[in-house]
Amino acid sequence: MTRILIAECKQEVSTFNPALSHKEDFRFAYGPDVVASRRGGQSELAGALSVFDSRPELPLAPAFSARAGSGGTLAAADWHWIAREFLDAVRAAAPVDAAYISLHGAMGAEDEGDPEGYLLAETRKIVGERIPIVVSLDLHGILTERMLEQVNGLTVYHTYPHEDMVDTGVRAARLLLRILDEGLRPATALVKIPALVRGKELITATGLFGGMIRQCEAIEASPGGLAAGMFIGNPFTDVPELRSSSVITTTDPDRSAREALRLANELWAVREALHEDLTPLDEAVRIASATTNGTVVMMDAADATTSGASGDSNAVLRACLNGGYQGQALMPVIDPRAAAACFAAGVGNAVRTPVGGAFDPARFPPIEMAGRVHLLAEGRFVAEFSGGESFAGPTAVLKAQNYTLVLASRSVGLHDRSLYLAHGQDPRQFDLVVVKSPHCKPYMYADWCARLINVDAPGATSANLRSLGHTACARPIFPLDPDVAFTPEARVFQR
Ligand SMILES: [Zn+2]
Repeated sequence: MTRILIAECKQEVSTFNPALSHKEDFRFAYGPDVVASRRGGQSELAGALSVFDSRPELPLAPAFSARAGSGGTLAAADWHWIAREFLDAVRAAAPVDAAYISLHGAMGAEDEGDPEGYLLAETRKIVGERIPIVVSLDLHGILTERMLEQVNGLTVYHTYPHEDMVDTGVRAARLLLRILDEGLRPATALVKIPALVRGKELITATGLFGGMIRQCEAIEASPGGLAAGMFIGNPFTDVPELRSSSVITTTDPDRSAREALRLANELWAVREALHEDLTPLDEAVRIASATTNGTVVMMDAADATTSGASGDSNAVLRACLNGGYQGQALMPVIDPRAAAACFAAGVGNAVRTPVGGAFDPARFPPIEMAGRVHLLAEGRFVAEFSGGESFAGPTAVLKAQNYTLVLASRSVGLHDRSLYLAHGQDPRQFDLVVVKSPHCKPYMYADWCARLINVDAPGATSANLRSLGHTACARPIFPLDPDVAFTPEARVFQR
């Protein structure tokens, strides 16, 4: 009997968010619950299970799952606890004959810049050198050499915004089964690209990056092509191996290297186009004040909770107050203190509370707001983008002057409209709406708003990468440094 180890450990962090992540931010599952809780959903693990389930002669050895939303760096003690739980569960599941591990790739702990590499290296020690390990990753992951030294193959998302989670797991499971069934020895070539990239050209359906991904898909579909992808890293996870890279797996080491070099050169050639044009906040407020034919949407990617920011920015509110903005404005702020002040006051009553800076007061000094509590809720709703459950904790809608502030207690994704809609606020009814995300699906805002402005606000996930203050990633790197040279080199990993 060939037993397949199943494990999962996923989080994405922003080093520049001063609020540390803790184990309480994770959801855990052990043993049979790992597969029972993940079958049929929109995840890589669900995709992989759908493949493994078609091979009942290969029993699964589910071990451990840990997953959290994006946030700040993982506290050292919590990382040690999670790593111990993960490895104890792998030990309990052993011996196994193969392993599929679902990772994000952009974890970061206070004392470990490569958590996924550590988990894979320690897992390898437990399961032995001879069994195949295949992993799946997010293209925002930071792919390290330590990870590649331990795995026999990997698959990575082909879409941004991400829509192919299930397919990425399907591809990983099929690769693992081919290694088992055909005795393949996949050769994975890595080419490191000293570039950090952002912006709309990364949208794979429409942008330049998508053209490179189409070539990766063609490699995967070709004879001998096993897996292909591009990692752009999460530019906010400031760890030593943060960068972009091309990663190609075929049955032929020379071909893998050749294709990886070609794609790396292609990304490097268009790096200048892979950035976001940002509008200064005061100018954005002037544009909003002058727009009278519909809703202005300000995209504040610098405080994107789905990228790891704290969500407590009041930077756009401050700019509007300073600029004398008169329109009806709708804004989200993750601020448990302000929400609690509204709950203490009660619906319909007057309240005065600081707003913003609950987690990052240095970037976002709190702003004293006086208004009336319009609505109080428990903060549970269905996320528009994923269809999954969101829990924002006690959530209040505060109306203060011409500002409608949706004040949540816990971080939730702000890359769709669901926090607003779940709390009775229709973005179309406002003159100005703040969206804390780099991108949304077009139908959510872009297709109908009068003006969409990517604002240059401070924040832990600003697309103005030079504003962040990287200290750990290898330098020089584009665009943080001038005149960066690129000497493409392919390193091939094969087990
Ligand atoms: Zn991602």
